[in-house]
Amino acid sequence: MAAFWTEPDYDDHELVELVRDTASGLTAIIAVHSTHCGPGGGGVRFWHYADPADAMRDALRLSRGMSYKNAMAGLPAGGAKGVILADPTRTKTPAMLAAFGNAIDALGGRYVTAEDVGISEADMTAISQRTRHVSGLPVPEGHAGGDPGPYTAQGIFLGIRAGVAHRLGRESMAGVHVAIQGTGSVGGGVARLLAAEGALLTLADIDHVRAAALADELGGEVVAHDAIMAVPCDVFSPNALGAILDESGIAALRCAVVAGGANNQLARAHHGAMLAARGILYAPDYVINAGGIINVTVEYVARQRGEHGSLEEVNRLIGEIPDRLRAIWQESESTCESPDVIADRMARRLIGRG
Ligand code: NAD
Repeated sequence: MAAFWTEPDYDDHELVELVRDTASGLTAIIAVHSTHCGPGGGGVRFWHYADPADAMRDALRLSRGMSYKNAMAGLPAGGAKGVILADPTRTKTPAMLAAFGNAIDALGGRYVTAEDVGISEADMTAISQRTRHVSGLPVPEGHAGGDPGPYTAQGIFLGIRAGVAHRLGRESMAGVHVAIQGTGSVGGGVARLLAAEGALLTLADIDHVRAAALADELGGEVVAHDAIMAVPCDVFSPNALGAILDESGIAALRCAVVAGGANNQLARAHHGAMLAARGILYAPDYVINAGGIINVTVEYVARQRGEHGSLEEVNRLIGEIPDRLRAIWQESESTCESPDVIADRMARRLIGRG
């Protein structure tokens, strides 16, 4: 078997730990990519992988992504990720979560966990019984923390506005047509914020009823989930799956701007250049979708001081997302490199790897 450090996704990660607890049946990987900017922050995913090598690839790739995201958001956090390898029935027990909490605690703060796919706020609370290096815990109303979705949506909304101003020269979203893929926590929040500013919406979700209910509420069109990328519009906003921007996805697009919250939107690195060659302005995903991690990081940092996190601080940091996007787009225009390449370079410089 090839060693993980020969994987293409291995990027001088500071720590990659296999966690095995036979009593609870826990198998997990914790990958800390960089602690240059602070403790490695990133969620833990609970997922069944048919091939465990895919779990390692996820841990390596996602932890590097968190380093980039946290650095670009100006957070005092490095990048890390946890992956719990679930069995095919995805049975999750309190003993497993306790064992995972113990493993985090043993790292002494190098890894700070949070919710990701398959992990709830209740799971986070269970993990927090074993370690204080946890974010995304329930907080009283009016403080940083809790469900990251609305904060992610807020940053994406501001990023879409910035993209529309930059590419189309329009300062208001009134009458701007946005096609939204995925109407869940993030996509639904983006849709509501856009509708409040008078944007025209086309919505799609594999859960057609969900998209239709939102369209009824906000006044938009609904199309089939496999038709949304080809809708003629000003902005395509992907808020469901990753890797949708591949050869056929990019060829289908009929928009001026791609700006949405889904992680890892570019299927391969060269797809950023392909978007640029089609004249489409791209908002790098980990820059525009940082609102949620901003929220939980402010929560975590304050809790370490025995305080609640300030929502003003969260809003201030989310308010900087459009500035960062504009800086990326301007540099992209002056160097003729695509925005994803510029963003990666900026992020690597910030984590001391430039
Ligand atoms: P969610 O589960 O609440 O919503 C996702 C929606 O996408 C669901 O309604 C689902 O039915 C739909 N969907 C799935 N496949 C689809 C397809 N092929 N076409 C159309 N719709 C489809 O998840 P979320 O929290 O809104 O996250 C959405 C994306 O944003 C994910 O990629 C996630 O990794 C990313 N993200 C989320 C946050 C956050 O704060 N929640 C932060 C950063 C990034």
